[in-house]
Amino acid sequence: MRGEAVSKKARSAPGRGWLALANGAGAGQKHAQDGVSRAKARRKFSASRLIVLLALLAVGTTVISAGVGYGMARQSDENLWSDQRTALRNAVGEFRNLFGQNRQVDPRFVRMVEHSARLQDLKFETEPSASDRESQPVLDAQGRIAGFFTWEKTRPMGAAMDRLMPYISGLAIALIGFAGFSLAQLRRTRRELTLSEEQARRAADEDKLTGLPNHAKTLELLDLYLAEHAAHETTTFALIELDGMEDVTSHLGVLGSDELIVAVADRLREAIPAEAVIGRVGSDRFALMLIAEDEIDVEPMIRTVLENIARPHWFESVVRVSAHAGFAQAPRHATTRGELTRRAELALRAAAKKGPGAIVGFEAAIDTVTTDQKFIQRELPRALSANELELHYQPIIAAHGGRIVGVEALLRWTHPQRGAIGPAVFIPVAEQMGLMDTLGAFVLRRALQEAKRWPDLYIAVNLSPLQVRDHTIVDVVRSALEESGVPPSRLMLEITEGVLIDNPEEMVRRIEDLHALGVRVALDDFGSGYSNLSYLQRFPLDKLKIDRSFVVALGTSANGGVIIQAIVALGRALGLSVLVEGVETEQQRVLLRLAGCDEMQGFLFAKPAPAATIDRLLSQQKQNAGSKGISAPPATLTA
Ligand code: C2E
Ligand code: MG
Ligand code: MG
Repeated sequence: MRGEAVSKKARSAPGRGWLALANGAGAGQKHAQDGVSRAKARRKFSASRLIVLLALLAVGTTVISAGVGYGMARQSDENLWSDQRTALRNAVGEFRNLFGQNRQVDPRFVRMVEHSARLQDLKFETEPSASDRESQPVLDAQGRIAGFFTWEKTRPMGAAMDRLMPYISGLAIALIGFAGFSLAQLRRTRRELTLSEEQARRAADEDKLTGLPNHAKTLELLDLYLAEHAAHETTTFALIELDGMEDVTSHLGVLGSDELIVAVADRLREAIPAEAVIGRVGSDRFALMLIAEDEIDVEPMIRTVLENIARPHWFESVVRVSAHAGFAQAPRHATTRGELTRRAELALRAAAKKGPGAIVGFEAAIDTVTTDQKFIQRELPRALSANELELHYQPIIAAHGGRIVGVEALLRWTHPQRGAIGPAVFIPVAEQMGLMDTLGAFVLRRALQEAKRWPDLYIAVNLSPLQVRDHTIVDVVRSALEESGVPPSRLMLEITEGVLIDNPEEMVRRIEDLHALGVRVALDDFGSGYSNLSYLQRFPLDKLKIDRSFVVALGTSANGGVIIQAIVALGRALGLSVLVEGVETEQQRVLLRLAGCDEMQGFLFAKPAPAATIDRLLSQQKQNAGSKGISAPPATLTA
């Protein structure tokens, strides 16, 4: 399960203010107690380790000392024997002439020798000793062996060591036993410590009341989900908030409402799919995270969760509690944790406004209202110089044959903290700030530079109303063309209807001036605003881009097809090339082709993507040349 894989890789993540975690005071006290006993266990472990070390050291010292003692005793005994032999030899030499014919030795002489050589029980015998007594031959004056001195071979030091040995062995055995016992104790203490630390770690990640991952852990898991999800997958982050918990608390009391939270957590656990993870991220808030295939519709799943929560709960009386939910998805809405949670929060607020049971998925419109204009004003100039803005390109497909004939350049801004901010959000702010000149010139230059890679395609560039109204646009376009060396016929400028209304005469002149450069002009989003058919006749346009809203109407309204057919026919009658935007399904493609449109653009074919992806797509197309061409979105393309 992905949750397990994720938790294996868990890493710490800083908390965020948007989630307030309510920890009970009792839980805090217990935590402190656990901390004290853990400190004790750690001290006990260190002490046991020291004792084991000392015991092993003592065993080692005892064994080594015994060995060394024996060695020294043996050496000392051997020295004694050598001294004795020398002394005996000397004594025998001195008294050699005292032997009589009968080889008898005066016992006094023996005693003298015994005394001077410090020997024990010295005897003179005619034969050498057969026992383990030492023997030394004694020669008479003629040099013949007169007999043998034999004596007891003593080991004073060795014997002393022998006497000590039982005590030393006893001590060593006792020390080994003690070391073994201490080692077992050490192992037990270490097990206890590991267990207690594991419990502490788990407790730090857990909401004490429900046992779910707490606020910090939930954010950590979200980080991992974001790092883990593959290119074709979507991470959903949903916030679920209970309605009217204040009323529940005043009705059930604090303990009762705690019980209800536990019951709600159980209902959540029951209702979510196995691969989803839930966390408690506030006193009456839960988060739900799920990684799934790109196209998954999570709303039915969240609805099941909310319905499960709303089933009556049985306490002393029947209690009902409803909830609402807001969600955002990565990478569609944001790619960073901060931005994803912010957008889920915005969606949650929108859901709260709608009322109990509402589910709101984030959409750009929510952010347009709520994105802090000041933030964009502050950040946009920095983003321009920090290279945070780039262009993505969306292929334009010939309705017949399905070949890519052009690309539309679409501006993208990835803010380091907030993630992707849509052009529909920041372009109006750029216009207000007077930044549109710089931004517009950047787009033109960059688009024409990158267009050099695709000599067979035309490149469509959007112009904001402010840019079109400004007469210097003609010079800006001219210099961008000259700089890039791209033939003007390959540039298509897209303008919108609104700009044509205010000052039609000037706009006609402007379009003519642009034509004079050799570029073409398209009317973008036709049908989204005033839809004044007279424009089509009045302004010298080259292309009509029919707005996505007409395509949506194709499948939903009975006469959607008729309207689009009429617009296409009118456009063509006026000599305009007709492109339809926002084609998302195969059915739409077939109907639009039958309606007679020339070109199409939409997620069915490809989402806007970086220039490198267009390179890949073109070489793919080249390889497939001769076959039907592109009829479905290549899996590698993402917005
Ligand atoms: P637009 O010129 O009409 O661009 C088409 C928009 O529709 C793009 O949104 C594109 O991502 C989206 N789109 C394309 N195919 C489909 C589809 O099949 N389904 C759906 N639902 N949407 C589709 P985007 O990139 O968010 O751009 C929004 C608008 O922002 C553009 O509308 C254009 O008016 C403006 N814009 C984008 N880039 C620039 C720029 O460089 N300069 C100016 N002045 N405006 C720009
Ligand atoms: Mg456009
Ligand atoms: Mg458009």
